[in-house]
Amino acid sequence: MQNTERKYAGTLLGCAVGDAVGLCYQFARFPGRRHISLESFSYLPFGHYPPGQYSDDTDMTLAIVQAILETGEVSGPAIAEEFKRIWQTVDIVDPGLSCDDAIHALIGGTPWDKSGTEDGRAGNGTAMRASPIGLWDYDDMEKLRRDSEIQSIITHKDRRAVAGAVAVAAAVAYNINNEKLDGNDFISFIKTECRVEGIDPFMRYLDDMPELLNMPEGRAVSIIAGAGQEKRFSGNFITPFVVPTVLVSLYAFLKYPDSFLDVLALVYRAGGDIDTTGAIAGAISGSRLGVEHIPERLKKGVLNEEHIAGLARRLWLAKRERLGFRK
Ligand SMILES: [Mg+2]
Repeated sequence: MQNTERKYAGTLLGCAVGDAVGLCYQFARFPGRRHISLESFSYLPFGHYPPGQYSDDTDMTLAIVQAILETGEVSGPAIAEEFKRIWQTVDIVDPGLSCDDAIHALIGGTPWDKSGTEDGRAGNGTAMRASPIGLWDYDDMEKLRRDSEIQSIITHKDRRAVAGAVAVAAAVAYNINNEKLDGNDFISFIKTECRVEGIDPFMRYLDDMPELLNMPEGRAVSIIAGAGQEKRFSGNFITPFVVPTVLVSLYAFLKYPDSFLDVLALVYRAGGDIDTTGAIAGAISGSRLGVEHIPERLKKGVLNEEHIAGLARRLWLAKRERLGFRK
């Protein structure tokens, strides 16, 4: 497997594994999440779902990949069709509220560029599915911003939600482009790419990232948990608000750039919306480390592992073709 191909597979399977393990931890009752050990972890069944089940984060990520493969571009109408299709045919676990509202509007006939929920609803539904845009546009940052906007506004018009999606796509793009990770360079790359109007809170906390990385984890997580919140927020868990969701994922990745499991363990310890932070952090870590760094038992145990690996390969081949390589 070539270097970039490993990273494509690492991104999509990293997303699915982080989502599926997070889902188990969220639904099974684990005493003391502060002491989570992923070393001994295996997927647990919950409800009527099979072990290795993932949630909306992975379903929507794969829907975007599918739409890119069908059209050879990031097309709003094609992604909207895929979202409608999965909402009508797949048993989606724990869908986000804005996504659910927007996709029901699509199903009811609202066009894709009008269906997104209004300003003020800045959930993490756009960021959680953003990694394929990083894989598709890693060589063209202007296009990465534009395509992130297209995939985001289908469900969220809020600028913070768009910015969160740009940040995650940019993080993946950085990892596809670079073998070595320089934390400061990574942050300044995301900052220059994620210039979306009206997202000052995001920028400020990105500036603080080096300081956050130097303080004890618990303190850093409680600061991140309150990041960008309009009212004072005293919980020490990550809500489905896009700003803390994306920041904790970037923080975990920078804290443990060489360990897929440590990245996931950190976001699960941080608590809250952990299938989504797991999906985002897993995708970013996988985009740096490649698929072989995801532990075999977690990779093989995730639902539809072969299908996901197949989509990653097809996306990689489509991108190569786009770049002018022969099939
Ligand atoms: Mg989810």
